Amino acid sequence: MMSARAESKITAADIRSSGETDTGLVREENQDCIFVDQGQGLYAVFDGMGGHQGGATASLVARNTLVDVIARNRADYRTDKLLVKACKAAGAEVHRQAKANRELHGMGTTVVVLAMPQPNQAIIAHVGDSRAYLLRDQRLRRLTADHTIVAELVAAGRLTPEQAFDHPHASVLSRNLGGLPTTEVDLLKVELNVGDRLLLCSDGLNGYATRGAIEQVLSGAADPKAAVSDLIDLAKRGGGGDNVSTVVIDITKPSPDPSQDRGAKAWWNRRPLFMSACERMGMAGSPLVTQLPVTEALEFLAGSFCEAVYLDLNGTTGIHVWTYADSLVKAWFEREDDYQPIQELFDILRAAALSVVTDVAKTDNDFAVCLEISLLRALVVGEMVVGVQLSARLEERNEQFAIQSATSELPETTFANVATVPFTSLHSAMPAGPEVNHCLTQGTQAAMQTTGAHARPRLRAILDATLISASEFSGEAEMITTACELYGNRLLTEQEIDPIFDGLDACRSAHLAAIDDLDASPVVRGVALRALAGAHQSLFHAFALVAVDAGKPTTDALQEMNENTAQLRELLQRNERQLTKLEHALDTVEDFVHGDLTK
Ligand code: CA
Repeated sequence: MMSARAESKITAADIRSSGETDTGLVREENQDCIFVDQGQGLYAVFDGMGGHQGGATASLVARNTLVDVIARNRADYRTDKLLVKACKAAGAEVHRQAKANRELHGMGTTVVVLAMPQPNQAIIAHVGDSRAYLLRDQRLRRLTADHTIVAELVAAGRLTPEQAFDHPHASVLSRNLGGLPTTEVDLLKVELNVGDRLLLCSDGLNGYATRGAIEQVLSGAADPKAAVSDLIDLAKRGGGGDNVSTVVIDITKPSPDPSQDRGAKAWWNRRPLFMSACERMGMAGSPLVTQLPVTEALEFLAGSFCEAVYLDLNGTTGIHVWTYADSLVKAWFEREDDYQPIQELFDILRAAALSVVTDVAKTDNDFAVCLEISLLRALVVGEMVVGVQLSARLEERNEQFAIQSATSELPETTFANVATVPFTSLHSAMPAGPEVNHCLTQGTQAAMQTTGAHARPRLRAILDATLISASEFSGEAEMITTACELYGNRLLTEQEIDPIFDGLDACRSAHLAAIDDLDASPVVRGVALRALAGAHQSLFHAFALVAVDAGKPTTDALQEMNENTAQLRELLQRNERQLTKLEHALDTVEDFVHGDLTK
């Protein structure tokens, strides 16, 4: 699909810019000069050279001539020829004045000029060693090649970049404005994206700061104004041996229209609605927060969830909801071993979130669909975290059971009648023992018969993987590998994914039923069932993760969506169905495992 970024239109209102020039720490005079005019989309840096007064005059004369030529030819502004024409005129004028005034003899200047005839395009012309850079996706790219003798020798293969690095004549220009009556001008065009940051600078910056440092400072600065002054500071920290000039132009994200009630903002705007829904459904009475007064309890459980979702919607991540669930659940399980309150909490969060969706749908049904998908994803993330935590608890249980088994012939408490939690893991320190393994093998053979897995490779793979996992108590990494193999190379569509979920379901029922039918002692059957249920759940979980992961780029991009196009609408619906299915599938696992282990 097309990314939302590429679709968004850049307008003049999205451009921010700033420029600064500084004498540096060593020179007495600033021979650089800059031009910044955001209104007409014209930016330039000049670095003058020449004896007493010469350098400063050259850069100033070049700037004034260039700006004047462009102003007098506005009609041609959209053509790249105008920039070349203006640079040449500037060079000719500098040369003319140098000839006319003995004191200014030999003066010249560099130029790098950037014009934005339209907000999504930059045309850059340059002569000399002042540079243009583009910071895109946090990566700095240099757009211009220096016109220096050394750079040209490197380009011609006559010097290595290493030899050029410390070359005594590194800054001797092969071209400048003013040295000759006319000069060749290099020209390039760049198509701009939202988020791009452009930099024009004189060699007082790149001569005193490494490329990496420039990249870091430029990516870190909050806005162009901060960027230009941070870069000048950077050059000074590097010695500041030359005049330094920086111009930074940002193509910002289109500013949100405050009348619009969309995106993460739509969610945040309905925080009071969400909070009161949570309160109505009795969240403040949750055992998780018995020690807190009602308002604080709601703030703690509902308020922080609301904020986490907002931050995730804003940044298209899942990390905040993950952190919310992780810290909450971890703290709870350290106190109690009861899953029920967590389940109830998530039920309330889900219902309250859906009431927000219903409210959004009153005015904007399309966006409500989008929001609902994001919220469901947030809840799936939260429940996955719960699953991980429960697995850790279960592992402790298994260890305790293993110790009991080792110390008594016939333990009064068998694993099968220890109360467990519904999310299970196959992580276990419990040795399976030969009887259990025999039971697992027999049950698997029977399940192969009932499912017809001998002729169906996918089912066979599921049964094989779960048998191995149950009898060897192998880790989740193997399950992820099996899940990836099952997923293979397919699209996230119902036709492609559903058959695998169906296969996982069918194998699980057949496998567990087969074990239940075996003629073995209840304890052995209990242990085998327990191990197999864990293995199936783990595989199911791994597959759901792989599938959710495969759908992630699409769902992330959907959150950024602000245009109601038919194509996106269709994608939204497809994702919604898929995510609901995944969710439902996770619920089914939970119910199943819970039901089976407590009977
Ligand atoms: Ca310089």
